[in-house]
Formats: sequence, C-alpha cells, structure tokens
Amino acid sequence: MNGDCIFCKIVAGELPSHKLYEDGKTLAFLDIRPVNAGHTLVVPKNHSSNIFDISPEDWAAVAETTRIVARAIDEGVGADGVNIGMNNREDAGQVVHHPHIHVIPRFKGDGIKLMPQRDYREGEADETARKIRAALQTST
Ligand code: AMP
Ligand code: ZN
Repeated sequence: MNGDCIFCKIVAGELPSHKLYEDGKTLAFLDIRPVNAGHTLVVPKNHSSNIFDISPEDWAAVAETTRIVARAIDEGVGADGVNIGMNNREDAGQVVHHPHIHVIPRFKGDGIKLMPQRDYREGEADETARKIRAALQTST
C-alpha cells in the first residue's frame, strides 16, 4: 500500500466507494465523476503507477475483472455499448497514479466523443510502425 494513494485507501477501506466487485487481486468501484452513470474503475489491489510498472499477474487479473464488470454494467444499466480505456502518465490524462481501467457504459445518441482521430501523413505510418517494431525487439 502507498499511503499517499487514494485508490490504495479505497482498496484498504480507508476511503468510501461504491464497491461493485472484488477478488483477491482486484477491486471495481464507481467513478465518483462519471462520463455516464455506471462508469466504473477497475484497479489492482497492489500499488503500482500505470501500465508501465504493473506486474503481468496484476494486469491479467485487472483484464479479467474488466471483462466480468463490463458485462454486468452492460446488463445492469441497460447500455447500448461500453468503452474501455486507460490513461497512463500525466500527458495522457492520468490524474490518479495507481493503474485503473475505465469501463464506461454508452447509450445510443449520447454524443460523447472520447478519441478524436486524424489521418497519417505521407510515410508517417511506415516510419511509426518501424520504430515500434524495433522497440518490440528489445522489450519483454
Ligand atoms: P484518470 O484521469 O484516468 O487518472 O482518472 C482518475 C479517475 O478517478 C477520474 O475519472 C475521477 O473521477 C476518479 N476518482 C477520483 N477520486 C475518486 C474517488 N475517491 N472515488 C472514485 N473515483 C474517483
Ligand atoms: Zn495505490
């Protein structure tokens, strides 16, 4: 546990939350400021910061809890779809530095645009793919 981390405090029961699901490695609870009602956060019980330092075991557990919770949110709030997302580091919008998956119920016509997209410039996709493939050669 990290004593400065609000999600560690929620896991420990030192801060209140609307808990939805819990197992040995993970906890799911309602986001306090939802995109839509039912917006849920899935966290590992072990403290780490984000996708870059979470253990493979905790990540696998969070992924499975996300699958279970997404199905329950879909049914429970009568969603028409579900977005799953994760912010990693401040420049990607991460505010709470304990890994968390956002599970967001969506409704036909809710008009929410989460990820604006653009087109690649000439040659940019080839060059970008080359750099990432090179990084994959050296990463675990
Ligand atoms: P992120 O920007 O990905 O770090 O998202 C952090 C999320 O945590 C935001 O959507 C907040 O609304 C949510 N949040 C912050 N404090 C609490 C809390 N005490 N209980 C539930 N959700 C929280
Ligand atoms: Zn923490």
